[in-house]
Amino acid sequence: MGDFSLDKISDLSTELYVGGAWTAASDGGRFDVLDPATGQVLTTVADGTVDDAISAVDAAEAAAASWAATSPRERSEILRRAFELMTGRADELAHLISLENGKALTDARGEVAYAAEFFRWYAEEAVRGAGSVMTAPSGANKIVVLHQPVGVCVLVTPWNFPAAMATRKIGPALAAGCTVVLKPASDTPLTALLMGRILADAGVPDGVVNVLPARRSGAVVSAMLHDPRVRKLSFTGSTEVGRILLKEAADQVINCSMELGGNAPFLVFADADLDAALDGAMVAKMRNAGEACTAANRFYVEASVADEFGRRLAERMSALRVGPGTDDDTQVGPLVNEEAAAKVHELVTGTVDAGGRVVVGGTRPARDGYYYEPTVLADVPMGAPILGEEIFGPVAPIVTFTDEAEAVRMANDTEFGLVSYVYTGDLARGLRLSEALDSGMVGLNRGLVSDPAAPFGGTKQSGIGREGGHEGMLDYLESKYVAVTW
Ligand code: NAD
Repeated sequence: MGDFSLDKISDLSTELYVGGAWTAASDGGRFDVLDPATGQVLTTVADGTVDDAISAVDAAEAAAASWAATSPRERSEILRRAFELMTGRADELAHLISLENGKALTDARGEVAYAAEFFRWYAEEAVRGAGSVMTAPSGANKIVVLHQPVGVCVLVTPWNFPAAMATRKIGPALAAGCTVVLKPASDTPLTALLMGRILADAGVPDGVVNVLPARRSGAVVSAMLHDPRVRKLSFTGSTEVGRILLKEAADQVINCSMELGGNAPFLVFADADLDAALDGAMVAKMRNAGEACTAANRFYVEASVADEFGRRLAERMSALRVGPGTDDDTQVGPLVNEEAAAKVHELVTGTVDAGGRVVVGGTRPARDGYYYEPTVLADVPMGAPILGEEIFGPVAPIVTFTDEAEAVRMANDTEFGLVSYVYTGDLARGLRLSEALDSGMVGLNRGLVSDPAAPFGGTKQSGIGREGGHEGMLDYLESKYVAVTW
Protein backbone atom coordinates (compact mmCIF):
# COMPACT_ATOMS: atom_id res chain seq x y z
CA MET A 1 0.00 0.00 0.00
CA GLY A 2 1.34 3.42 -0.88
CA ASP A 3 2.07 5.67 2.08
CA PHE A 4 0.22 8.69 0.73
CA SER A 5 -2.39 10.21 3.01
CA LEU A 6 -4.57 13.29 2.78
CA ASP A 7 -2.66 15.18 5.46
CA LYS A 8 0.29 15.34 3.07
CA ILE A 9 -1.63 17.96 1.09
CA SER A 10 -1.25 20.89 3.47
CA ASP A 11 -3.47 23.31 1.55
CA LEU A 12 -6.38 20.96 0.82
CA SER A 13 -9.53 22.48 2.30
CA THR A 14 -12.69 20.43 2.79
CA GLU A 15 -14.93 23.52 3.00
CA LEU A 16 -16.94 25.14 0.22
CA TYR A 17 -15.03 27.58 -1.98
CA VAL A 18 -17.33 30.56 -2.57
CA GLY A 19 -16.35 34.11 -3.49
CA GLY A 20 -12.68 33.37 -2.78
CA ALA A 21 -13.39 32.19 0.81
CA TRP A 22 -13.40 28.68 2.27
CA THR A 23 -16.62 28.39 4.25
CA ALA A 24 -18.71 25.82 6.10
CA ALA A 25 -22.11 24.85 4.69
CA SER A 26 -24.88 27.24 5.79
CA ASP A 27 -26.45 24.51 7.94
CA GLY A 28 -23.07 23.14 9.09
CA GLY A 29 -23.68 19.84 7.26
CA ARG A 30 -20.86 17.60 6.06
CA PHE A 31 -20.73 14.31 4.17
CA ASP A 32 -18.32 11.38 4.05
CA VAL A 33 -15.85 10.72 1.25
CA LEU A 34 -14.96 7.01 1.07
CA ASP A 35 -11.80 5.20 0.01
CA PRO A 36 -12.96 2.71 -2.67
CA ALA A 37 -10.00 0.43 -1.89
CA THR A 38 -11.25 -0.19 1.66
CA GLY A 39 -14.75 1.23 1.96
CA GLN A 40 -13.47 3.31 4.91
CA VAL A 41 -14.12 7.03 5.40
CA LEU A 42 -11.26 9.16 4.06
CA THR A 43 -12.57 12.47 5.34
CA THR A 44 -15.70 14.61 5.41
CA VAL A 45 -16.55 17.56 3.20
CA ALA A 46 -18.89 20.54 3.66
CA ASP A 47 -22.29 19.68 2.17
CA GLY A 48 -23.46 22.69 0.16
CA THR A 49 -27.09 23.74 0.60
CA VAL A 50 -29.50 25.60 -1.66
CA ASP A 51 -28.58 28.80 0.23
CA ASP A 52 -24.91 28.12 -0.44
CA ALA A 53 -25.69 27.58 -4.12
CA ILE A 54 -27.37 30.97 -4.30
CA SER A 55 -24.36 32.53 -2.51
CA ALA A 56 -22.10 30.93 -5.10
CA VAL A 57 -24.21 32.40 -7.91
CA ASP A 58 -24.06 35.80 -6.09
CA ALA A 59 -20.25 35.53 -6.09
CA ALA A 60 -20.05 34.43 -9.73
CA GLU A 61 -22.41 37.23 -10.77
CA ALA A 62 -20.46 39.84 -8.78
CA ALA A 63 -17.22 38.81 -10.50
CA ALA A 64 -18.70 38.45 -14.00
CA ALA A 65 -18.35 41.97 -15.42
CA SER A 66 -14.77 42.56 -14.34
CA TRP A 67 -13.67 39.07 -15.46
CA ALA A 68 -15.31 39.58 -18.86
CA ALA A 69 -13.47 42.92 -19.10
CA THR A 70 -10.10 41.42 -18.14
CA SER A 71 -7.88 41.34 -21.17
CA PRO A 72 -7.65 38.06 -23.06
CA ARG A 73 -3.89 38.12 -22.54
CA GLU A 74 -4.30 38.33 -18.76
CA ARG A 75 -6.89 35.53 -18.72
CA SER A 76 -4.55 33.50 -20.88
CA GLU A 77 -1.63 33.99 -18.52
CA ILE A 78 -3.67 32.97 -15.49
CA LEU A 79 -4.70 29.76 -17.27
CA ARG A 80 -1.10 29.13 -18.26
CA ARG A 81 -0.06 29.49 -14.60
CA ALA A 82 -2.81 27.06 -13.63
CA PHE A 83 -1.37 24.57 -16.15
CA GLU A 84 2.09 25.00 -14.65
CA LEU A 85 0.87 24.69 -11.05
CA MET A 86 -1.08 21.54 -11.91
CA THR A 87 1.91 20.07 -13.68
CA GLY A 88 4.16 20.94 -10.73
CA ARG A 89 1.73 19.23 -8.36
CA ALA A 90 1.00 16.29 -10.67
CA ASP A 91 2.12 13.60 -8.27
CA GLU A 92 0.07 14.97 -5.38
CA LEU A 93 -3.00 15.38 -7.58
CA ALA A 94 -2.61 11.86 -8.96
CA HIS A 95 -2.48 10.40 -5.45
CA LEU A 96 -5.52 12.41 -4.41
CA ILE A 97 -7.51 11.21 -7.45
CA SER A 98 -6.43 7.64 -6.78
CA LEU A 99 -7.42 7.88 -3.11
CA GLU A 100 -10.95 9.16 -3.62
CA ASN A 101 -11.75 7.54 -6.98
CA GLY A 102 -9.83 4.29 -6.63
CA LYS A 103 -8.16 4.35 -10.05
CA ALA A 104 -4.61 3.04 -10.45
CA LEU A 105 -1.89 5.66 -10.09
CA THR A 106 -0.82 5.18 -13.71
CA ASP A 107 -4.35 6.08 -14.80
CA ALA A 108 -4.46 8.98 -12.33
CA ARG A 109 -1.16 10.35 -13.63
CA GLY A 110 -2.51 10.12 -17.17
CA GLU A 111 -5.62 11.98 -16.07
CA VAL A 112 -3.65 14.82 -14.46
CA ALA A 113 -1.56 15.32 -17.61
CA TYR A 114 -4.72 15.29 -19.75
CA ALA A 115 -6.55 17.62 -17.35
CA ALA A 116 -3.71 20.16 -17.19
CA GLU A 117 -3.59 20.26 -21.00
CA PHE A 118 -7.04 21.83 -21.07
CA PHE A 119 -5.63 24.83 -19.19
CA ARG A 120 -2.69 25.08 -21.58
CA TRP A 121 -4.83 24.67 -24.69
CA TYR A 122 -7.38 27.28 -23.54
CA ALA A 123 -4.61 29.63 -22.40
CA GLU A 124 -3.59 29.56 -26.06
CA GLU A 125 -7.17 29.84 -27.35
CA ALA A 126 -8.03 32.77 -25.05
CA VAL A 127 -6.10 35.20 -27.22
CA ARG A 128 -7.38 33.86 -30.56
CA GLY A 129 -10.77 35.61 -30.46
CA ALA A 130 -12.67 35.18 -33.69
CA GLY A 131 -15.29 37.77 -34.57
CA SER A 132 -16.08 38.69 -38.17
CA VAL A 133 -17.17 41.52 -40.43
CA MET A 134 -18.87 41.11 -43.79
CA THR A 135 -20.94 43.13 -46.20
CA ALA A 136 -24.61 42.10 -46.23
CA PRO A 137 -25.67 40.46 -49.53
CA SER A 138 -27.91 43.49 -50.25
CA GLY A 139 -24.90 45.81 -49.89
CA ALA A 140 -26.98 48.00 -47.58
CA ASN A 141 -24.97 47.45 -44.40
CA LYS A 142 -22.20 45.56 -42.70
CA ILE A 143 -22.73 42.49 -40.54
CA VAL A 144 -20.41 42.63 -37.55
CA VAL A 145 -20.30 39.51 -35.36
CA LEU A 146 -18.97 39.83 -31.81
CA HIS A 147 -18.31 36.90 -29.50
CA GLN A 148 -19.19 37.70 -25.90
CA PRO A 149 -19.04 35.52 -22.77
CA VAL A 150 -22.40 33.88 -22.00
CA GLY A 151 -22.12 34.86 -18.31
CA VAL A 152 -22.49 32.79 -15.15
CA CYS A 153 -22.13 29.05 -15.85
CA VAL A 154 -23.07 26.06 -13.71
CA LEU A 155 -20.69 23.14 -14.26
CA VAL A 156 -21.68 19.68 -13.04
CA THR A 157 -19.08 16.91 -13.25
CA PRO A 158 -18.91 13.12 -12.70
CA TRP A 159 -16.62 11.07 -10.47
CA ASN A 160 -14.80 9.06 -13.15
CA PHE A 161 -12.38 11.84 -14.20
CA PRO A 162 -12.61 14.27 -11.28
CA ALA A 163 -9.84 16.57 -12.56
CA ALA A 164 -10.20 16.35 -16.33
CA MET A 165 -13.98 16.79 -16.48
CA ALA A 166 -13.56 19.97 -14.39
CA THR A 167 -10.70 21.49 -16.41
CA ARG A 168 -12.40 20.62 -19.71
CA LYS A 169 -15.16 23.03 -18.62
CA ILE A 170 -13.29 25.59 -16.50
CA GLY A 171 -10.56 26.11 -19.13
CA PRO A 172 -12.81 27.27 -21.98
CA ALA A 173 -15.22 29.07 -19.62
CA LEU A 174 -12.43 31.20 -18.15
CA ALA A 175 -10.80 31.75 -21.53
CA ALA A 176 -14.13 33.01 -22.87
CA GLY A 177 -14.58 35.39 -19.91
CA CYS A 178 -17.29 33.49 -18.02
CA THR A 179 -17.51 32.91 -14.27
CA VAL A 180 -18.50 29.50 -12.89
CA VAL A 181 -19.95 27.46 -10.07
CA LEU A 182 -18.56 23.91 -10.18
CA LYS A 183 -20.64 21.16 -8.53
CA PRO A 184 -18.37 18.10 -8.41
CA ALA A 185 -19.61 14.53 -7.95
CA SER A 186 -20.19 13.61 -4.31
CA ASP A 187 -17.90 10.57 -4.56
CA THR A 188 -14.92 12.74 -5.59
CA PRO A 189 -15.16 16.32 -4.27
CA LEU A 190 -11.56 16.55 -3.00
CA THR A 191 -9.87 16.84 -6.39
CA ALA A 192 -12.25 19.67 -7.33
CA LEU A 193 -11.49 21.47 -4.06
CA LEU A 194 -7.75 21.23 -4.68
CA MET A 195 -8.35 22.56 -8.20
CA GLY A 196 -10.07 25.56 -6.59
CA ARG A 197 -6.92 26.17 -4.55
CA ILE A 198 -4.68 25.83 -7.61
CA LEU A 199 -6.79 28.26 -9.63
CA ALA A 200 -6.69 30.79 -6.77
CA ASP A 201 -2.90 30.41 -6.59
CA ALA A 202 -2.72 30.96 -10.35
CA GLY A 203 -4.38 34.35 -9.87
CA VAL A 204 -8.05 33.66 -10.67
CA PRO A 205 -9.90 36.52 -8.95
CA ASP A 206 -12.35 35.81 -6.12
CA GLY A 207 -15.76 34.68 -7.30
CA VAL A 208 -14.66 33.72 -10.83
CA VAL A 209 -14.47 30.03 -9.86
CA ASN A 210 -16.60 28.67 -7.03
CA VAL A 211 -16.55 25.02 -5.94
CA LEU A 212 -19.64 23.63 -4.27
CA PRO A 213 -19.66 20.00 -3.15
CA ALA A 214 -23.26 19.01 -2.38
CA ARG A 215 -24.74 15.63 -1.65
CA ARG A 216 -28.25 16.92 -2.36
CA SER A 217 -27.23 17.60 -5.93
CA GLY A 218 -30.77 17.60 -7.34
CA ALA A 219 -31.99 20.46 -5.12
CA VAL A 220 -28.78 22.46 -5.34
CA VAL A 221 -28.43 22.30 -9.12
CA SER A 222 -32.15 22.92 -9.62
CA ALA A 223 -31.98 26.09 -7.50
CA MET A 224 -29.17 27.42 -9.66
CA LEU A 225 -30.94 26.55 -12.90
CA HIS A 226 -33.94 28.55 -11.70
CA ASP A 227 -31.83 31.60 -10.84
CA PRO A 228 -32.18 34.06 -13.72
CA ARG A 229 -28.54 35.13 -13.37
CA VAL A 230 -27.38 31.68 -14.51
CA ARG A 231 -26.98 31.58 -18.30
CA LYS A 232 -25.42 28.24 -19.02
CA LEU A 233 -25.27 24.64 -17.80
CA SER A 234 -22.43 22.35 -18.80
CA PHE A 235 -23.08 18.83 -17.56
CA THR A 236 -21.04 15.65 -17.81
CA GLY A 237 -22.63 12.53 -16.41
CA SER A 238 -25.24 9.91 -17.14
CA THR A 239 -27.90 10.27 -19.81
CA GLU A 240 -30.51 9.66 -17.11
CA VAL A 241 -29.47 12.72 -15.08
CA GLY A 242 -28.79 14.72 -18.26
CA ARG A 243 -32.44 14.28 -19.24
CA ILE A 244 -33.60 15.57 -15.85
CA LEU A 245 -31.35 18.62 -16.12
CA LEU A 246 -32.45 19.42 -19.67
CA LYS A 247 -36.00 19.56 -18.33
CA GLU A 248 -34.93 21.75 -15.39
CA ALA A 249 -33.02 24.05 -17.72
CA ALA A 250 -36.05 24.41 -19.98
CA ASP A 251 -37.87 26.66 -17.49
CA GLN A 252 -35.39 29.47 -18.10
CA VAL A 253 -34.28 28.29 -21.55
CA ILE A 254 -30.73 27.94 -20.30
CA ASN A 255 -27.99 27.19 -22.83
CA CYS A 256 -26.98 23.52 -22.24
CA SER A 257 -23.92 21.48 -23.12
CA MET A 258 -24.39 17.81 -22.37
CA GLU A 259 -21.66 15.16 -22.28
CA LEU A 260 -23.58 12.00 -21.48
CA GLY A 261 -23.23 8.24 -21.49
CA GLY A 262 -21.64 6.06 -24.14
CA ASN A 263 -21.89 2.48 -25.39
CA ALA A 264 -18.85 2.32 -27.66
CA PRO A 265 -18.61 -0.46 -30.26
CA PHE A 266 -15.10 -1.79 -30.99
CA LEU A 267 -14.99 -3.38 -34.45
CA VAL A 268 -12.21 -5.76 -35.43
CA PHE A 269 -12.03 -6.93 -39.05
CA ALA A 270 -10.10 -10.01 -40.14
CA ASP A 271 -7.75 -7.80 -42.19
CA ALA A 272 -6.72 -5.81 -39.08
CA ASP A 273 -3.29 -5.98 -37.48
CA LEU A 274 -4.42 -8.16 -34.57
CA ASP A 275 -1.57 -7.13 -32.28
CA ALA A 276 -2.49 -3.49 -32.75
CA ALA A 277 -6.18 -4.29 -32.24
CA LEU A 278 -5.36 -6.02 -28.94
CA ASP A 279 -3.24 -3.08 -27.81
CA GLY A 280 -6.07 -0.71 -28.71
CA ALA A 281 -8.65 -2.94 -27.03
CA MET A 282 -6.70 -2.93 -23.78
CA VAL A 283 -6.53 0.87 -23.77
CA ALA A 284 -10.13 1.40 -24.86
CA LYS A 285 -11.44 -1.16 -22.38
CA MET A 286 -9.14 -0.94 -19.39
CA ARG A 287 -8.21 2.73 -19.03
CA ASN A 288 -9.71 3.69 -15.67
CA ALA A 289 -10.77 0.04 -15.12
CA GLY A 290 -13.46 0.56 -17.74
CA GLU A 291 -15.00 3.52 -15.89
CA ALA A 292 -14.91 5.85 -18.88
CA CYS A 293 -17.68 7.14 -21.12
CA THR A 294 -15.35 6.28 -24.03
CA ALA A 295 -14.76 2.71 -22.79
CA ALA A 296 -15.16 0.00 -25.42
CA ASN A 297 -18.43 -1.55 -24.33
CA ARG A 298 -19.21 -4.02 -27.14
CA PHE A 299 -16.55 -5.92 -29.10
CA TYR A 300 -17.75 -6.93 -32.58
CA VAL A 301 -15.15 -9.23 -34.13
CA GLU A 302 -15.22 -10.81 -37.61
CA ALA A 303 -16.03 -14.50 -37.10
CA SER A 304 -12.82 -15.85 -38.65
CA VAL A 305 -10.61 -14.12 -36.05
CA ALA A 306 -13.00 -14.01 -33.09
CA ASP A 307 -11.60 -17.06 -31.24
CA GLU A 308 -8.02 -15.88 -31.55
CA PHE A 309 -8.94 -12.31 -30.53
CA GLY A 310 -10.95 -13.53 -27.51
CA ARG A 311 -8.23 -15.93 -26.36
CA ARG A 312 -5.45 -13.35 -26.64
CA LEU A 313 -7.55 -10.63 -25.02
CA ALA A 314 -8.27 -12.99 -22.11
CA GLU A 315 -4.53 -13.70 -21.71
CA ARG A 316 -3.81 -9.99 -21.46
CA MET A 317 -6.72 -9.28 -19.13
CA SER A 318 -5.83 -12.08 -16.73
CA ALA A 319 -2.22 -10.83 -16.53
CA LEU A 320 -3.31 -7.46 -15.12
CA ARG A 321 -2.52 -6.76 -11.47
CA VAL A 322 -5.65 -5.81 -9.50
CA GLY A 323 -5.16 -3.89 -6.25
CA PRO A 324 -5.43 -0.59 -4.41
CA GLY A 325 -4.99 2.29 -6.85
CA THR A 326 -2.32 3.93 -4.72
CA ASP A 327 -0.03 0.86 -4.91
CA ASP A 328 2.65 1.57 -7.47
CA ASP A 329 2.35 -1.76 -9.29
CA THR A 330 -1.46 -1.82 -9.52
CA GLN A 331 -2.87 -1.81 -13.04
CA VAL A 332 -6.56 -2.12 -12.20
CA GLY A 333 -7.94 -0.36 -9.13
CA PRO A 334 -11.30 -0.92 -7.44
CA LEU A 335 -14.52 0.46 -8.92
CA VAL A 336 -15.82 3.64 -7.38
CA ASN A 337 -18.41 2.21 -4.98
CA GLU A 338 -20.37 -0.86 -3.97
CA GLU A 339 -23.25 -0.06 -6.29
CA ALA A 340 -20.88 0.09 -9.28
CA ALA A 341 -19.29 -3.28 -8.49
CA ALA A 342 -22.68 -4.91 -7.88
CA LYS A 343 -24.04 -3.55 -11.16
CA VAL A 344 -21.08 -4.90 -13.15
CA HIS A 345 -21.55 -8.34 -11.61
CA GLU A 346 -25.26 -8.30 -12.38
CA LEU A 347 -24.50 -7.54 -16.06
CA VAL A 348 -22.01 -10.42 -16.19
CA THR A 349 -24.38 -12.96 -14.63
CA GLY A 350 -27.18 -11.71 -16.90
CA THR A 351 -24.96 -12.34 -19.93
CA VAL A 352 -24.16 -15.87 -18.80
CA ASP A 353 -27.89 -16.51 -18.25
CA ALA A 354 -28.49 -15.27 -21.81
CA GLY A 355 -26.00 -17.83 -23.23
CA GLY A 356 -22.66 -15.98 -22.99
CA ARG A 357 -19.48 -17.76 -21.87
CA VAL A 358 -16.93 -16.51 -19.34
CA VAL A 359 -13.46 -16.81 -20.90
CA VAL A 360 -11.72 -15.21 -17.94
CA GLY A 361 -12.79 -13.37 -14.75
CA GLY A 362 -16.50 -13.05 -14.04
CA THR A 363 -16.24 -12.69 -10.26
CA ARG A 364 -15.64 -10.20 -7.47
CA PRO A 365 -12.40 -11.03 -5.65
CA ALA A 366 -12.86 -12.06 -2.01
CA ARG A 367 -11.38 -8.95 -0.40
CA ASP A 368 -12.54 -5.61 1.03
CA GLY A 369 -13.19 -2.79 -1.42
CA TYR A 370 -15.13 -2.60 -4.67
CA TYR A 371 -12.97 -4.76 -6.94
CA TYR A 372 -13.95 -6.66 -10.07
CA GLU A 373 -11.84 -9.20 -11.96
CA PRO A 374 -10.88 -8.24 -15.54
CA THR A 375 -13.38 -10.27 -17.54
CA VAL A 376 -13.85 -11.48 -21.11
CA LEU A 377 -17.22 -12.87 -22.22
CA ALA A 378 -17.50 -14.74 -25.54
CA ASP A 379 -20.46 -15.97 -27.61
CA VAL A 380 -22.57 -13.09 -26.32
CA PRO A 381 -25.95 -13.18 -28.09
CA MET A 382 -27.41 -10.01 -29.62
CA GLY A 383 -30.06 -8.70 -27.26
CA ALA A 384 -28.07 -9.52 -24.10
CA PRO A 385 -28.60 -6.63 -21.64
CA ILE A 386 -24.84 -6.00 -21.39
CA LEU A 387 -24.86 -4.77 -25.00
CA GLY A 388 -27.56 -2.20 -24.28
CA GLU A 389 -26.04 -0.23 -21.42
CA GLU A 390 -22.78 1.16 -20.13
CA ILE A 391 -20.86 -1.51 -18.25
CA PHE A 392 -18.53 0.94 -16.49
CA GLY A 393 -16.23 -1.86 -15.40
CA PRO A 394 -13.43 -4.14 -16.64
CA VAL A 395 -15.63 -6.45 -18.72
CA ALA A 396 -15.31 -7.11 -22.47
CA PRO A 397 -18.27 -8.87 -24.17
CA ILE A 398 -17.48 -10.31 -27.61
CA VAL A 399 -20.01 -10.76 -30.42
CA THR A 400 -19.11 -12.04 -33.89
CA PHE A 401 -20.12 -10.63 -37.29
CA THR A 402 -19.73 -11.91 -40.81
CA ASP A 403 -19.65 -8.82 -43.04
CA GLU A 404 -19.21 -5.07 -42.99
CA ALA A 405 -22.89 -4.21 -43.33
CA GLU A 406 -23.78 -6.42 -40.38
CA ALA A 407 -20.97 -4.87 -38.30
CA VAL A 408 -22.24 -1.33 -38.97
CA ARG A 409 -25.81 -2.34 -38.21
CA MET A 410 -24.82 -3.89 -34.89
CA ALA A 411 -22.54 -0.98 -33.95
CA ASN A 412 -25.25 1.61 -34.60
CA ASP A 413 -27.95 -0.40 -32.80
CA THR A 414 -27.91 1.75 -29.65
CA GLU A 415 -29.41 5.02 -28.46
CA PHE A 416 -25.89 6.22 -27.62
CA GLY A 417 -23.40 7.74 -30.06
CA LEU A 418 -20.29 8.92 -28.26
CA VAL A 419 -17.40 7.04 -29.85
CA SER A 420 -16.76 4.01 -32.06
CA TYR A 421 -13.51 2.14 -32.64
CA VAL A 422 -12.58 0.38 -35.88
CA TYR A 423 -9.58 -1.83 -36.58
CA THR A 424 -9.02 -2.71 -40.21
CA GLY A 425 -6.04 -2.90 -42.57
CA ASP A 426 -8.13 -1.44 -45.40
CA LEU A 427 -7.95 2.34 -45.28
CA ALA A 428 -10.90 2.83 -47.64
CA ARG A 429 -13.04 0.63 -45.39
CA GLY A 430 -11.86 2.54 -42.34
CA LEU A 431 -12.87 5.87 -43.84
CA ARG A 432 -16.17 4.48 -45.14
CA LEU A 433 -17.01 3.21 -41.66
CA SER A 434 -15.92 6.46 -40.03
CA GLU A 435 -18.72 8.10 -42.00
CA ALA A 436 -21.25 5.32 -41.46
CA LEU A 437 -20.86 4.97 -37.69
CA ASP A 438 -23.34 7.17 -35.86
CA SER A 439 -21.10 8.64 -33.17
CA GLY A 440 -19.42 11.95 -32.48
CA MET A 441 -15.94 10.41 -32.52
CA VAL A 442 -14.20 7.48 -34.19
CA GLY A 443 -10.92 5.83 -33.21
CA LEU A 444 -9.59 4.47 -36.52
CA ASN A 445 -6.93 1.90 -35.65
CA ARG A 446 -6.59 3.77 -32.34
CA GLY A 447 -7.95 2.87 -28.91
CA LEU A 448 -7.69 6.38 -27.45
CA VAL A 449 -9.46 9.42 -28.89
CA SER A 450 -9.47 11.98 -26.05
CA ASP A 451 -7.35 15.03 -26.89
CA PRO A 452 -7.76 18.57 -25.51
CA ALA A 453 -7.24 19.96 -29.01
CA ALA A 454 -10.07 17.91 -30.54
CA PRO A 455 -13.85 18.39 -30.31
CA PHE A 456 -15.09 15.72 -27.89
CA GLY A 457 -18.78 14.86 -27.77
CA GLY A 458 -21.56 12.62 -28.93
CA THR A 459 -24.59 12.17 -31.16
CA LYS A 460 -28.02 10.77 -30.19
CA GLN A 461 -28.44 10.37 -26.42
CA SER A 462 -24.71 10.80 -25.78
CA GLY A 463 -25.13 14.52 -25.70
CA ILE A 464 -25.26 17.98 -27.15
CA GLY A 465 -22.25 20.19 -27.92
CA ARG A 466 -18.51 19.61 -27.99
CA GLU A 467 -15.76 20.10 -25.42
CA GLY A 468 -12.12 20.70 -26.30
CA GLY A 469 -10.64 22.12 -29.47
CA HIS A 470 -11.76 25.42 -30.99
CA GLU A 471 -15.37 24.25 -30.75
CA GLY A 472 -15.17 23.87 -26.97
CA MET A 473 -14.84 27.60 -26.42
CA LEU A 474 -17.74 28.51 -28.69
CA ASP A 475 -20.07 26.84 -26.17
CA TYR A 476 -19.17 29.61 -23.69
CA LEU A 477 -19.62 32.48 -26.14
CA GLU A 478 -22.71 34.20 -27.51
CA SER A 479 -22.52 35.40 -31.09
CA LYS A 480 -23.88 38.94 -31.17
CA TYR A 481 -24.60 40.46 -34.56
CA VAL A 482 -24.50 44.21 -35.08
CA ALA A 483 -26.06 45.64 -38.25
CA VAL A 484 -24.31 48.87 -39.17
CA THR A 485 -23.84 51.02 -42.23
CA TRP A 486 -20.61 52.86 -42.86
P1 NAD B 1 -24.28 10.96 -12.73
O1 NAD B 1 -25.16 11.39 -13.84
O2 NAD B 1 -24.83 10.09 -11.68
O3 NAD B 1 -23.70 12.25 -11.96
C1 NAD B 1 -23.03 13.28 -12.65
C2 NAD B 1 -23.12 14.53 -11.80
O4 NAD B 1 -24.48 14.94 -11.68
C3 NAD B 1 -22.58 14.38 -10.39
O5 NAD B 1 -21.98 15.61 -10.00
C4 NAD B 1 -23.86 14.15 -9.59
O6 NAD B 1 -23.72 14.52 -8.24
C5 NAD B 1 -24.82 15.06 -10.31
N1 NAD B 1 -26.22 14.68 -10.17
C6 NAD B 1 -26.75 13.45 -9.96
N2 NAD B 1 -28.10 13.52 -9.91
C7 NAD B 1 -28.41 14.82 -10.12
C8 NAD B 1 -29.64 15.52 -10.19
N3 NAD B 1 -30.83 14.91 -10.07
N4 NAD B 1 -29.60 16.84 -10.41
C9 NAD B 1 -28.43 17.47 -10.56
N5 NAD B 1 -27.24 16.88 -10.50
C10 NAD B 1 -27.22 15.56 -10.29
O7 NAD B 1 -22.99 10.35 -13.42
P2 NAD B 1 -21.74 9.69 -12.72
O8 NAD B 1 -22.16 8.36 -12.22
O9 NAD B 1 -21.09 10.66 -11.80
O10 NAD B 1 -20.74 9.53 -13.96
C11 NAD B 1 -20.79 8.46 -14.83
C12 NAD B 1 -21.55 8.86 -16.09
O11 NAD B 1 -20.92 10.00 -16.68
C13 NAD B 1 -21.51 7.77 -17.14
O12 NAD B 1 -22.78 7.67 -17.73
C14 NAD B 1 -20.50 8.31 -18.14
O13 NAD B 1 -20.65 7.82 -19.45
C15 NAD B 1 -20.74 9.77 -18.07
N6 NAD B 1 -19.58 10.50 -18.56
C16 NAD B 1 -19.68 11.11 -19.78
C17 NAD B 1 -18.59 11.77 -20.30
C18 NAD B 1 -18.67 12.45 -21.63
O14 NAD B 1 -17.83 13.28 -21.91
N7 NAD B 1 -19.64 12.13 -22.47
C19 NAD B 1 -17.40 11.83 -19.57
C20 NAD B 1 -17.33 11.20 -18.33
C21 NAD B 1 -18.45 10.54 -17.84
